[in-house]
Amino acid sequence: MHFLSRFSKIARSPCLLQNTPLFTASHGVRKFSRSATRNKDGGPGQQKKKGLLERLGEGPVVGDGSYVFTLERRGYVLAGPWTPEVVIEHPEAVKSLHREYLHAGADVLQASTFYSSDDKLTMPGHEASRTITCKELNDKACTILKEVAGDADVLLCGAMSPVPSYLDGKGKEVVQREYAKQMEAFIEHDLDFLLAEFLGHVEEAEWVIELMKTKGKPVACTLRTGPKGDCAGVAAGECAVRMAEAGADVVGVNCQYDPNTCLKTMEAMKTELDKRGLSPYLMVQPLGFHCPEVENEDEGYQMLPECPFALEPRQLTRFEAHAFARAAYDLGVRYIGGCCGFEPHHIRAISEELSPERGGKLGEASKKHVPWGGALKNSMLVPNRTKGSRQHWEKTKPASGRPGYPDVQPKLINQ
Ligand SMILES: [Zn+2]
Repeated sequence: MHFLSRFSKIARSPCLLQNTPLFTASHGVRKFSRSATRNKDGGPGQQKKKGLLERLGEGPVVGDGSYVFTLERRGYVLAGPWTPEVVIEHPEAVKSLHREYLHAGADVLQASTFYSSDDKLTMPGHEASRTITCKELNDKACTILKEVAGDADVLLCGAMSPVPSYLDGKGKEVVQREYAKQMEAFIEHDLDFLLAEFLGHVEEAEWVIELMKTKGKPVACTLRTGPKGDCAGVAAGECAVRMAEAGADVVGVNCQYDPNTCLKTMEAMKTELDKRGLSPYLMVQPLGFHCPEVENEDEGYQMLPECPFALEPRQLTRFEAHAFARAAYDLGVRYIGGCCGFEPHHIRAISEELSPERGGKLGEASKKHVPWGGALKNSMLVPNRTKGSRQHWEKTKPASGRPGYPDVQPKLINQ
């Protein structure tokens, strides 16, 4: 509850956004200087880009947003199996979304590899995957990622999702083998860091962290846990401690819960980590939907009757994404992005909010965005001229446009 009030407090705070030097900031995606270093053969070479841990040590890192959720809405992915074969079936759609996040100001692009493990591909719904392996899918996802990134100063993340073998009780060796296959392409393509995300159990996280640590890359791990703890009842704080002790450089949560709830979980994690003298970097990538009523449900927003096809009225506004980014930063979280429901304009909002802490960096997309609707002041349409102020957007409470509909669901699935 305190974060809800924290949000409104932050939204009214005079130091938020108003003083953000958006107009003096350097727009555009930075490129590496090709004149700064030389290759062994004496020709022009690439300056070494800063790695994840170096960047996190200097300030906030802005993640990217939703992939499978957004690609489903655009008609390229099937909800349920969240078909990772999209990288082969519609590579242009994946490239386009990566480009939008880069354009928005993200510091990281995640490979589009959710649910691509071999054991997941044998489950119902993955029609095209009968003849495609995890290795082939992840290899293609990496190729796409590198093509989009080009020489932009953006980190490339090899992302892994939970494996059904864990829930089937097949044991550590089998589970690690499934993760090893997911990781193979990321190592071959020399991506910048590894991330295991959306894990429901900290034990599974420990197993994958142990394996990731053998690859010589920075290791991040996020659970789909709420404030109550993981699916086995391990408290959120204890989960963070166990992930840190397993060797993760970056720990936190993603998906399943809204920003407000995710920040409560992060606070619990930070409190326990501090108590135990552990200091991994903290990472949060929440849902882009408001769903306070599922805060204490193990499977979060999956318990909403309208998930995943009718969540639009719950979507965060850009202003709420600003407030989330500031609240996360103030809490000490340094890797701040989004999961399902976070669209490019939300990532632009995070990028703009944290621009002062990132040396004034902004994405190209901010050239087409004046803070607080400033460009509306000169609108040809008279009603819009009154909307070009911070005050207007702070006091406006978005309506759903559906009279008689509830604010939150009175009943969740199976209740
Ligand atoms: Zn998600």
